Amino acid sequence: MPSQLGNDVVGFILPFVVFGIVIYTWYIYIFRLCYAKLFDVNRAEAVAFMTIGTFFMVLTLISYFRIYFSYPGKAIHATPVSLSTPPSFPRFYYSPRLLDLRKTGRRDIEEANETTSLLPVVSVCRNDGLPRYCDTCQCYKPDRTHHCKECNACILKMDHHCPWISGCVGHKNYKFFFLFVLYCAIYALWVFCTSLPTVIEAMNELEASLDPQWIVLLVLAFVFGMTLWGFAGVHGYYIINNQTTIEHISQRPNEIRIDFDISGQNYEIVTTHHDDKLWDLGHSRNWSSVMGKSPWGWFVPIYGGLGDGCVFAYNDSLYDKIIERAKRQRMMLNPSMT
Ligand SMILES: [Zn+2]
Ligand SMILES: [Zn+2]
Repeated sequence: MPSQLGNDVVGFILPFVVFGIVIYTWYIYIFRLCYAKLFDVNRAEAVAFMTIGTFFMVLTLISYFRIYFSYPGKAIHATPVSLSTPPSFPRFYYSPRLLDLRKTGRRDIEEANETTSLLPVVSVCRNDGLPRYCDTCQCYKPDRTHHCKECNACILKMDHHCPWISGCVGHKNYKFFFLFVLYCAIYALWVFCTSLPTVIEAMNELEASLDPQWIVLLVLAFVFGMTLWGFAGVHGYYIINNQTTIEHISQRPNEIRIDFDISGQNYEIVTTHHDDKLWDLGHSRNWSSVMGKSPWGWFVPIYGGLGDGCVFAYNDSLYDKIIERAKRQRMMLNPSMT
């Protein structure tokens, strides 16, 4: 097991490594290749190469800073329970009438005074039916929230802990993480494809002008490009399926609690299959929940996605099935309560 100190040191160094590699490759590409070599041969082409390369390098760095300086989203600390939310009634729950991401994008549980009209409500719970609670952070955990040991915090819609940013990727910075991977992959591909002919030509002609740093540039662009295109594909897939990395690799089923009233005592527990995509709203709504409503903002690493990270709409048909199963369960166990 790596020590905490080791993790801290790696976490401190890696962001500088990322920044260093991006700036170093940009320096070689712009000054030692495009400007020093191509500019004399074909000025228009060299300027186009430099402009496009710099454009994607800048987008890469902006996305990186946006991930680094956006907190992934921390779960809310436990607060005294109000009358409308008795102690064992889940603090975070979902009802189709409560949340419409297309309209509001967010909602606050404290404003949900008319809870009875929203029943039955669903929430992911512990095996024993109690709301998920983190003893370390002393907070109730909303659906999709996980405790990260490295960050020592509960992270909303946690995707993974990333040493390259020395922090977690979660609800509030996942879009920037995806854009960083995507722009860095495009930048690497662009640099590789536009540098390759010059390097091959210089090698074939056995020119003394072959700069050894061009080879370093090609290797870095190839290695990072291949890796990052793989990542971009995987996370693109997760986005359109509304899954996090944790949810995708998890083999554990979810326990869903269905509350029929607000007493906190009248509920059933239904177990879903680990393959069930509970929050899958269809490709297009899945995409906008992460990337934002307006297509103009999808690829701009400034605006975030939709929602508050505490409540997520359930897939309609899975929601119906869960309620149906809970009602059937209830009828079989307590015929008198129906
Ligand atoms: Zn926690
Ligand atoms: Zn973390």
